This record gives sequence, structure tokens and C-alpha cells, in this order.
Amino acid sequence: MFDKLKENLEKRGYEVLTFATAAEAAEALNRRIDGKTVGMGGSVTIRQLGLLEKLSGHNTVYWLESPPDGMTVMETRRAGCRSEVYVSSVNGISEAGDIVNIDNTGNRAAAISFGPETVYLIIGRNKIAPDLEGAVWRARNVASPRNAKRLNRNTPCAAKGDRCYDCDSPDRICRNLSVLWRKPAGASYVIVLVDEELGY
Ligand code: SF4
Repeated sequence: MFDKLKENLEKRGYEVLTFATAAEAAEALNRRIDGKTVGMGGSVTIRQLGLLEKLSGHNTVYWLESPPDGMTVMETRRAGCRSEVYVSSVNGISEAGDIVNIDNTGNRAAAISFGPETVYLIIGRNKIAPDLEGAVWRARNVASPRNAKRLNRNTPCAAKGDRCYDCDSPDRICRNLSVLWRKPAGASYVIVLVDEELGY
């Protein structure tokens, strides 16, 4: 299913791994990431793959959804950005290979854009849109409302989780839009495509 997307991503400079299941992807990441400091973005996909449990046995993991003892969530975000490896999902990807994320504090967008030596982006088939406009639409109207609902934000989208209302709420989670047109220079990027629906 990923033949064309894989080809397009490789042309844009990414290493691409494909898996039929999330379990296979998790096992592969667990083998590849060893003895490293690892930052992870807030992500339902990461939770579905059980990566905290797998990686923390043989890596030092900074994940804001489970800060290490004695660290605040913000300290964990900063440590994650400074780690050797960063693991995240994405909010949308076009069939041509444009990678879209909407962020709140910006730690995930920052780490994905610059920071770690190696970035792994895990992408379920539900994140694929026909083009960049569709990927941005998906990030705004599918991923963000569901995340706002998950995080119990006081925003119009969180009530129904149906679409973006471009709100002015103090609780607005959408404060940063990141698009990777090509692999950023200076780091290794591994795109992990999984033929299952993962995350929002
Ligand atoms: S901008 Fe506001 S309404 Fe739109 S998805 Fe983000 S939090 Fe929800």
C-alpha cells in the first residue's frame, strides 16, 4: 500500500521502513534504538506501540506523558529536544511526502525540525492525505480537535471533537504549524509507515 509514498519519501531524503502491524514496528524500533537518550512527543501512536515500556529498559527516555522522577513536564520537554533520538508521530502526510504537524508548546515541532541526531516519525495509514492542503486540513480538523478532547481543553472543538473552529480560547492547543517539505539537513530521519490506523 505504501509503494508510491515510500518512493516519494526516499526521493526527499528520508530512510523509510514499512510494517504491516504496529507490533512489528515497535519491535523494530526497540531493536534499533539502544543505549541512547530518547525524547518522545505527546502521542497516542507512541502509547499504542508501547514504546515507553519497551525503550525505557535500555535507553534514557524523556516523555512528557510520563516525566522521569523529579522532572517537571516542561523540563522533560526540554530534555527530549536535547536527546540523541526523537520519536514522534505526525498529524498528516501528503502522498507526495509533505509532513504536517500542529503543536502547542512547539517542543515537538522544534525537535522534528532541528535537534536530535536521529528522528523517527511513526505514521499510520489514517494520516495519509492526497495532497499538502489535505494533510493540513486533516491536522486542523481531525487530529487537533481529537487531541483537544483527549486533553480536556476548554475549546469549542473539544466538546464534539468534530472540526476546528479557529478559536481564540486561552486553552487553544494549535499555536504552531510545521511542514517538512524535505528531510531537514544535518540529521537522520527514519519514516516508519504502518499499515494500521494509529493515533489521531
Ligand atoms: S484552533 Fe481551537 S478550535 Fe481549532 S482545533 Fe485548535 S483548539 Fe480546536
